[in-house]
Amino acid sequence: MNINHHPDITTLMAFSAGTLEDPYATVVATHLAMSEGGRETLRHINTIGGALLNAEPEAELATGSLDRLMDALGDDDRIDVTPHDARGTVTGDVPLPLQRHLPNGLDGVRWKWTGPGVATADLAWGKDGRSRLMLLRVGAGRPVPEHGHGGQELTLILSGAYRDRFGIFAKGDIADHDQDVEHQPIAEPGDDCICLVAVDAKLTFRGRLMRALQPLFGI
Ligand code: ZN
Repeated sequence: MNINHHPDITTLMAFSAGTLEDPYATVVATHLAMSEGGRETLRHINTIGGALLNAEPEAELATGSLDRLMDALGDDDRIDVTPHDARGTVTGDVPLPLQRHLPNGLDGVRWKWTGPGVATADLAWGKDGRSRLMLLRVGAGRPVPEHGHGGQELTLILSGAYRDRFGIFAKGDIADHDQDVEHQPIAEPGDDCICLVAVDAKLTFRGRLMRALQPLFGI
């Protein structure tokens, strides 16, 4: 699998520290199960986090000392503080961290019509009562209406691909967007694009029609 897009480093650090709400942590863990490179990055972050926890509290980190710490640690990954099981392998079409939400696989998903060419399925809510985990299916060649985000939107491609102004996102890729980003994903021709998405606020649609219909769609 050729994975080109990864979570932001701040998202990975929050994942490593165990402070991500469960919907976001599930998206990151599922991505890591699909991405050898992502697991390698997480091992480094875990190592640095563990070393910092063990450091003298008064010790000040001068500029560049984080890099020196990285060099000194090399590939030492004995310190493992991974709070979620991100080591899982992919079974069938559902990576291990996602299987508790999809016991019957993607074929068993009960999709809800959400708009022309677009369907969603709610999977879980975070403990904060705002963040949620859902599946999004966009028909091959169909667009998702142009929108912004009220908060962080973390999207992992499970199958198919889409394109927006940030490039092409295919299986295993993650799009990590905050509230400043507006975009209009369009599914690539061929297969439907199925994504695992964590959001903590409503999407903000630009078109008046979409804004009027949004309460019906529940996104
Ligand atoms: Zn978006």
